[in-house]
Amino acid sequence: MSKNRLSGLPKMDVLLARPELAGCPLPYALVRRAARQVLDDLRQALLADGEAAIPSEEVLARQVLALAHDLNRPHLRRVVNAAGVPLHTNLGRAPLSPRAAEAVRQVSAGYCTVEYDLDRGARGSRTGRIEELLKELTGAEGAFVVNNNAAAVLLMLSVLTPGLGVAISRGELVEIGGSFRVPDIMARSGATLVEVGTTNKTRLSDYAAALDSGAAQALLKVHPSNFKVVGFTQAAELPQLGELARERSVPLLCDLGSGALSAGLFPGEPTVEEAVRWADVVCFSGDKLLGGPQAGILLGKADLIARIRSDPLARALRLDKLSLAALEGTLMDWRDGMLPPAAAMLGADEAILCKQAEELAALLTPLCPCEVTESPGEAGGGSMPGVSLPGWAVALTPAEELEQFLRGWETPVIGRIHRGKLLLDVRTLLPGDEDIIAAALSRWKEGKA
Ligand SMILES: *Cc1c(COP(=O)(O)O)cnc(C)c1O
Repeated sequence: MSKNRLSGLPKMDVLLARPELAGCPLPYALVRRAARQVLDDLRQALLADGEAAIPSEEVLARQVLALAHDLNRPHLRRVVNAAGVPLHTNLGRAPLSPRAAEAVRQVSAGYCTVEYDLDRGARGSRTGRIEELLKELTGAEGAFVVNNNAAAVLLMLSVLTPGLGVAISRGELVEIGGSFRVPDIMARSGATLVEVGTTNKTRLSDYAAALDSGAAQALLKVHPSNFKVVGFTQAAELPQLGELARERSVPLLCDLGSGALSAGLFPGEPTVEEAVRWADVVCFSGDKLLGGPQAGILLGKADLIARIRSDPLARALRLDKLSLAALEGTLMDWRDGMLPPAAAMLGADEAILCKQAEELAALLTPLCPCEVTESPGEAGGGSMPGVSLPGWAVALTPAEELEQFLRGWETPVIGRIHRGKLLLDVRTLLPGDEDIIAAALSRWKEGKA
């Protein structure tokens, strides 16, 4: 290859002076960076293949502009969840309620009272208000919050059971995801795992035997989270375990996983209130059935929670001010009888979902072939395993092409392909999402014309 071809590349300054780039509102440093990359890539291409074509300056300028827009976009972006899974872990689990989102906006843009007491004009408690709300909502004596439930489990075991044998059912030695495994966390906390029962059947007498033999000095109950054992099964329930623990004066700890605040709303889920009545310490996630931000919530006996709070590990696992604001807003919603969005989606009325799907189909019919279809959903996020939620979706074709187009839209729309159709499930749509989908599909249709 001749050196001439390399020197035939447009100069950076010339490229940047082109009207497409000179008039562009993006930061100049960003456009320069994009231009350098486009020219570098072209140089590499020419070095690899001396005959490679050199695009016109206009084409290069457009490439630079596209790359600059890409670089200007955060990786973490808002998307439309049309997958029908309210607690979709890959899509950020629970969306915040308007009140919780506004609380985050308020405290993030300026200074805030995270550790300041306005009445006294002095240093204040970081989590006091949230603890009061949690106690009021659940009847717990003590409350504390940390970064997520994985942290809460680690903290609870590290403070309360180091050096102790902890009895747990073989059916509850679960992996939650992201290699968070109950046996490993227990080992890390310094506790000794004492397996009792079998995978499918564990009786109260199995726990009692572990205590009687001296192998165990504490009991742990873990919500199986993302799976369900069906068929020939038996498990000791919390009230039975609670009575056993009291009788033998040993602590009963409970990793509740999701943490359902309300009874009737989430079929098959134990409520927090019930767990708090029987267990000495209970922990659960902030962004599962509670419908708030990522957080780990610890509830229980005042003296045990006080020990947890004052452990050095608690400081390492503490929640930041943005999550505290979101959590407080979410708990205020529950207090005031308002369901956070994810909780409302989980309990959504099937007839209303069907009507919503019909309305969306009517909006989209002029834009692409579509029809209303049944779409059974699930909670996601390791909540309510095995529970199928009756729901409705709009089914679009051509599935692959539309899936890709919608995923690449400014506000990406995430659906799921089922039997050759792209399903947009209405359960998880938030106000305004229908308009985003319609805007995307009208652009798609324009592109076809
Ligand atoms: C989800 C879950 C966890 C982990 O909670 P995060 O808030 O995601 O850290 C731990 N234990 C159980 C039983 C769970 O369901």
